[in-house]
Amino acid sequence: MILNINNEHLRHYAESLCQMFLGPVRFADDSDGFADIDISLTKTANGYKCMAKSNGVCKTFEFDNSRFSFLKESDVEKIALGNAFYMLGAQLYHKSPPWGILTGIRPAKFILDHQSLGISNDILRLLLSEAYLVSKENIELAFQIAKTESKYLSHSIDKTVSVYISVPFCPTKCNYCSFVSCATKKLSSLIVPYVDKLCGDIKSRAALIKKLGLRVRSVYIGGGTPSILSPSQTDSVLTAIFDSMPLCENCEITFEAGRPDTITDQIFDVLKKHRIDRVSVNPQTLSDDVLKAVGRNHTAAQFYDAYACAKKHGFAIINTDIIAGLPSDTVSSFKSTLDSIIALYPQNITVHSLSIKNAAKFRADAKKLISDTATANECVAFSKDALIKNGYLPYYIYRQKNTIGNLENIGYARIGCESAYNILMMEEIHTVIGIGAGSVTKLVSSDRKKIVRIFAPKYPYEYLGISSKKPLYSDMDIDKEISDFYCENYFAAK
Ligand code: SF4
Repeated sequence: MILNINNEHLRHYAESLCQMFLGPVRFADDSDGFADIDISLTKTANGYKCMAKSNGVCKTFEFDNSRFSFLKESDVEKIALGNAFYMLGAQLYHKSPPWGILTGIRPAKFILDHQSLGISNDILRLLLSEAYLVSKENIELAFQIAKTESKYLSHSIDKTVSVYISVPFCPTKCNYCSFVSCATKKLSSLIVPYVDKLCGDIKSRAALIKKLGLRVRSVYIGGGTPSILSPSQTDSVLTAIFDSMPLCENCEITFEAGRPDTITDQIFDVLKKHRIDRVSVNPQTLSDDVLKAVGRNHTAAQFYDAYACAKKHGFAIINTDIIAGLPSDTVSSFKSTLDSIIALYPQNITVHSLSIKNAAKFRADAKKLISDTATANECVAFSKDALIKNGYLPYYIYRQKNTIGNLENIGYARIGCESAYNILMMEEIHTVIGIGAGSVTKLVSSDRKKIVRIFAPKYPYEYLGISSKKPLYSDMDIDKEISDFYCENYFAAK
């Protein structure tokens, strides 16, 4: 697809809007069968006017900014462009995305940021519905989540960080997966040296956190599939954390066991020995047919066994992840999955929408999947109703590019069972130090206005230094970046 736009700095936003309606299209490549789009934006007395044209259809929208004078000029431009594009998309593709033209990934952060500027909730509701075209249901959902998250903002977080520890290995690769995870035998042979280096990095990053006078509020061990580690490897990682990290008294530690086919009594024994109380056991669907269709190499029965194993070990919080929009899933099998999960009454249920971002095996079917959004829409709407009716509240939300129907991912929790890590990380409330291949360290200034990202080497062989590709940052560079950031943004200001 060719996208012509007369304001180059808005190209990225315009591309995001195209993807919202059309899925993972490629730009400057007209071989995909989608019509070219022309966009032109002009300044007016009180705002901007935009014309969007494609396939013989032309839509014009003029945004007068008098009512929302607090908006930055770049937001005003985007609103004019977004509205013109939305009208075009609605006519050409017969879609009205429920998040309107809000393409950012964190709707609740949008609300919290504007509230912190003193904008009233009434004005914010008006802005979201009239300028950003967000549906009434989604506006209320975002407000509800922002309210829960604001509790975490008011806690003292100034001298705390969270830590993410990456275990990017899986027993096999699921077809829809867009994460960095290694699932071949050859790559799995790297687990032993990987765990060695990971433990060393946990200790050295812990020394830096201590030196900076910080404490750790939450730790998330995620993947991949962390429970692919042997019990003794898991023990080594947890021992490194507990021996070296300056943990807050109420530090929350989560172990994302993930795939049911890797969960064993022995792994959970190790977690309990270290007094870990939060685990994830993720089926994604409880239909064996769908599990097979998406190449997820376990059965529903294995999920039930793994879940029973977690219950037997007495974990206080068990999370289960499911996905709406999986190929071959139907509304009725999704409903049956969710009803069965609710019957287990776990403390957390996270409902993802299928993202077909990098999933190589699905990419060829992307257009078909994207156009079949009705099923995913119905599943997501059903999950909101069913979970709220059964005592779960949405507490964090994020959106990804190229999800079916431009839908969202929502974490639901029974009251008081929210995951602090998910909120602190997702809403960029404080710094998250990433350790391990594929992890990202996100440094957040105390006023939350400045964010610096440091990317660890993506793959284990790069992380271990056995690749010809030189990493962007060495371990010493990462330490220096973190120290410099804190000197500039925390210590200098005091
Ligand atoms: S278990 Fe999770 S991380 Fe691993 S391949 Fe499947 S979806 Fe990806």
